[in-house]
Amino acid sequence: MKFFLSVILVFISTIILAQSTFLHCGKIVDTKSGEVLTEKTIIVLDNKIVSVNDGYAKPESSNTTVIDLKSKTVLPGLIDMHVHIEHETNPKRYVQKYILNEADVAFNSVKYANITLMSGFTTVRDLGGSGVNVSLRNAINAGKINGPRIFTAEKAIATTGGHADPTNGAKRSLTGNPGPKEGVINGVEDAKKAVRQRYKNGADCIKITATGGVLSEAKNGQNSQFTIEEIKAICETAKDYGFHVAAHAHGDEGMQRAILGGVKTIEHGTLMSAETMELMKEHDVYLVPTISAGKFVSEKAKISGYYPELVVPKALEIGPKIQDMFARAYKADVSIAFGTDAAVFYHGDNGKEFSYMVNAGMPAIEAIQSATITNAMLLGMEDTLGQIKEGFIADIVAVNEDPTQNISTLENVVFVMKEGKVYKQ
Ligand SMILES: [Zn+2]
Repeated sequence: MKFFLSVILVFISTIILAQSTFLHCGKIVDTKSGEVLTEKTIIVLDNKIVSVNDGYAKPESSNTTVIDLKSKTVLPGLIDMHVHIEHETNPKRYVQKYILNEADVAFNSVKYANITLMSGFTTVRDLGGSGVNVSLRNAINAGKINGPRIFTAEKAIATTGGHADPTNGAKRSLTGNPGPKEGVINGVEDAKKAVRQRYKNGADCIKITATGGVLSEAKNGQNSQFTIEEIKAICETAKDYGFHVAAHAHGDEGMQRAILGGVKTIEHGTLMSAETMELMKEHDVYLVPTISAGKFVSEKAKISGYYPELVVPKALEIGPKIQDMFARAYKADVSIAFGTDAAVFYHGDNGKEFSYMVNAGMPAIEAIQSATITNAMLLGMEDTLGQIKEGFIADIVAVNEDPTQNISTLENVVFVMKEGKVYKQ
């Protein structure tokens, strides 16, 4: 009965010129139940899924598009919780911040956004750039360019000399005195102001760099860089604007301060102790592992000149540890949200993270769930994203094989639909 009603609905809607599409799916990964369903038809009307039916339904109307995915496995659009869509790794990266104009960054970001969408990631959380990421999000939402749906932190918040202080590594005459407006804070008042500035600039969430980082031109990749009072001030102010807070952290002490201060996600988590894992669970904080970034930097650090001298030992030390930490965190029952740190490696390679997670002991279906229902929930989109279900937004991707049997098939997404529009087929 429900099926006939939806067919009638599609028929009527087609008459009033709405776009409807029937997707004949050999297999569908049901991210809610964790089961793989077979021989289904997804009916899409405009940007929404109107129904998911048994068998391969034939449309009543001749101007309905039918897409044959009978030999494919279909999933909801993938969600990456940690990308930097404005830039991408390359040996000249450290000079580029002094020679690229905002327009150059913008043109580059258009390219990276498109690559990301084509690789099956229909939604991303951008954890820090120059502010071009806000304009990029708006342009994508307005349909001017192709790219994933972006939730952006705009500019990450750091302390002076910290990871994400934009003038690290510059000669003194060029460093100026960046403050809360530029995302650099010292003290509680600065912290509040920096969050409000991000709100004013159009951010969707807040990112802080709770400890040193690998790729910044600073000596230490793991020291604590915020006081707990500063983190609390950021998280409390963020709450006023409906923002959650993501904390970059490699060192254990900085991670603990971030968790106690009220952040929602810990990015990387490299040196996380067993005690901190317990704290994560106690405070309902999610780990965004970014194993891909760790692997990439530890490889590139072996190439002379790829990174500045100050960065190399940090990349060699921290990079290889992330996957092991992830394995321990998963075993300890820490909640995992899929995220890669794309830009540290090449955009479009985001799907490799799935294999890294599975190789570290996570079942394939759970890795897929972390990139769909979990991330949708963290973004407050659990009623519209992360599942192939009636009433949800039609973000749908397909791969050649069943990813619960061969996870690496997610590195080669062959079909991409976002908001009911086909971008790759
Ligand atoms: Zn990052």
